[in-house]
Amino acid sequence: MDLHSGFPFWLVKNGLLADYPALQSDLQNEEVVIIGSGISGSLAAYELCKAGFRCTMLDKRILSSGSTWASTAQLNYELDISLCDLADLYSEDFAVAVYKASLASVDKIQRIAADTAMDECLERIPSLYLSSDEKGAQAIEQEYALRRKHGFPVELLGKEQLQAFRITNRTNALYHHHAIQLDAYRMTVGLIQHCVKSGNLTVYTRTNVTKLESSDEGVTLQTDKGYTVKARFVICAPGYESAQFLPKQVMALNSTYALVTQPLPEDAFWKERCLIWETKRPYFYLRTTKDNRIMMGGGDVSFKDETARDRLIDEKEVWLLKECKTLFPHLEISADFVWCGTFGDVEDGLPFIGLYPGMDNVYFALGYGGNGTTYSLIAAEVISNLLKGEPDQRAQLFGFDRKK
Ligand SMILES: Cc1cc2nc3c(=O)[nH]c(=O)nc-3n(C[C@H](O)[C@H](O)[C@H](O)COP(=O)(O)OP(=O)(O)OC[C@H]3O[C@@H](n4cnc5c(N)ncnc54)[C@H](O)[C@@H]3O)c2cc1C
Repeated sequence: MDLHSGFPFWLVKNGLLADYPALQSDLQNEEVVIIGSGISGSLAAYELCKAGFRCTMLDKRILSSGSTWASTAQLNYELDISLCDLADLYSEDFAVAVYKASLASVDKIQRIAADTAMDECLERIPSLYLSSDEKGAQAIEQEYALRRKHGFPVELLGKEQLQAFRITNRTNALYHHHAIQLDAYRMTVGLIQHCVKSGNLTVYTRTNVTKLESSDEGVTLQTDKGYTVKARFVICAPGYESAQFLPKQVMALNSTYALVTQPLPEDAFWKERCLIWETKRPYFYLRTTKDNRIMMGGGDVSFKDETARDRLIDEKEVWLLKECKTLFPHLEISADFVWCGTFGDVEDGLPFIGLYPGMDNVYFALGYGGNGTTYSLIAAEVISNLLKGEPDQRAQLFGFDRKK
């Protein structure tokens, strides 16, 4: 599958940041093999190498060029599924535990960037979650009440306070300081380079894993070039291409669209340049870049195939610019780079992390839904703890067998 088309901004901005060779022999005695060099695989490598595991990473593409290239990389403790909806779907305790895990992961990503000297990839930033209509305004009030009840950091802003953000056509919004905007490609490659330098990670790209067989003694992989790789443990982080490794489909695929504008004058922006998103679904969202562009995305539709997805690029470009102008009529904007991608979504908006029942020694790190990056970090920590033999409560929240 082509995971994206068009010109993802991070590739244009950074160019290719690193490369590693293809696998050219069998590997008989690996401790941990990580399938996938995106943000999920790289965070798993970071946690596992730090814990002293010897890791080998395999990717069928060039380094980190899957969905991570295409991400607009807004990280937020608030999830695509609200605390209220999650509590209705499971229970209030369950929903609160999930939100607490998400809140902690935002701070943790910032610490990892500092530990690996990649602070420049990341910016801590406030977040504004706008009501799109009256129904959304009511939902925001309920959400505020439940979050406050459980001590989550959040403020409720009304029409008047929104004017300070140059927003005049929305009733209310949730506001907080626990969000991040990231250069996900740079951070991913930086983490991989950090682990390689530590001596605990070896990386092979252009190496397609075509078969996986697990037993209680370990895991055997076959590659497209006919090599065999034997490992004690496998971390499966293939992003939205997980279907080949799982006995049954666990997600639905969507197409999503994004663009960046031309650089804008300093006085064109809204207060604090916070991340902005909204209650309606499919939603529209925006952030800014260090070189004064607005990066925006959304307009998701269900995925049929790459051709159908790509055919909508021009139409979605017009739609995204129009949504932005509706919010900020003063802006004079056009698109410099436009792209689209395919992403996986699950009904409850939560990731799948850990062992799949009946598949020994294969740990999945599948950060599906709009909060993929924070989920990738949670997956990395949970899996590292499980391999160290330490219990982790989050494994129950995000396991394949979580119960409604
Ligand atoms: C337009 C767009 C905007 C987005 N915006 C956001 C956002 O604002 N915030 C957010 O949190 N998330 C966002 N996402 C989602 C985010 O991009 C993903 O959650 C994240 O990049 C997934 O990372 P990953 O490492 O799991 O997958 P990937 O980056 O796709 O990495 C998986 C890797 O596995 C490799 N692989 C797959 N199969 C095999 C195999 N058989 N053998 C070997 N290698 C294999 C692939 O080549 C790939 O490199 C967005 C996505 C898109 C498309």
